[in-house]
Amino acid sequence: MSNSEVAKCPKDRLPEYAFIGRSNVGKSSLINMLMERKNLAKTSGRPGKTQLINHFIINKNWYLVDLPGYGYARVSKKAKKTFQKFITNYFEKRKQLVLAFVLVDCRHEPQPIDLEFMQYLGESQIPFSIAFTKADKLKPNALQRNIEAYKERLLQDWEEMPHYFITSSSNSTGREDLLDYIDRINEE
Ligand code: GDP
Repeated sequence: MSNSEVAKCPKDRLPEYAFIGRSNVGKSSLINMLMERKNLAKTSGRPGKTQLINHFIINKNWYLVDLPGYGYARVSKKAKKTFQKFITNYFEKRKQLVLAFVLVDCRHEPQPIDLEFMQYLGESQIPFSIAFTKADKLKPNALQRNIEAYKERLLQDWEEMPHYFITSSSNSTGREDLLDYIDRINEE
């Protein structure tokens, strides 16, 4: 189900898990990898297009929620504001949201926009995990170095490192870990 308004999202109260990150972070690829489908999630498209919240029902048990990517470089202030409102509306109104996965490209240093977004989630008391994407693009040592650097930066803001996953859509790294994690929470 695709909606442009939170009010129109599914009403059946199944637990939901949101996926969000900067555009191009690999969100569609990760969702398709998790679901073992080629084109379930479509790439976020260009800025200015209608922003949609996509609900995918999984095993009639929970929803995977694909939220629009943030952080397009060339977007007007007005478009940024509209987008912010759209996203905060979702996070603040959606009571069945259990957890958000914030996607971060493992190749990049911590980016202000991602750190700010995690701050926002923290202040709003929304639990989140981090999913590092595109792990296949780095050698194991470089990957470990980047994760350590990320941890160090986050520990300036947080008492502990949020739970995190290392993922690659190219070789399905992290798929079982992430899905098991969701199943475990759902069983609690
Ligand atoms: P979205 O905008 O966040 O939905 O990003 P996409 O899933 O469309 O991915 C953006 C680009 O990164 C595409 O060219 C993908 O092929 C590539 N990509 C995404 N995930 C991976 C990954 O795990 N490994 C590699 N090597 N490339 C990836």
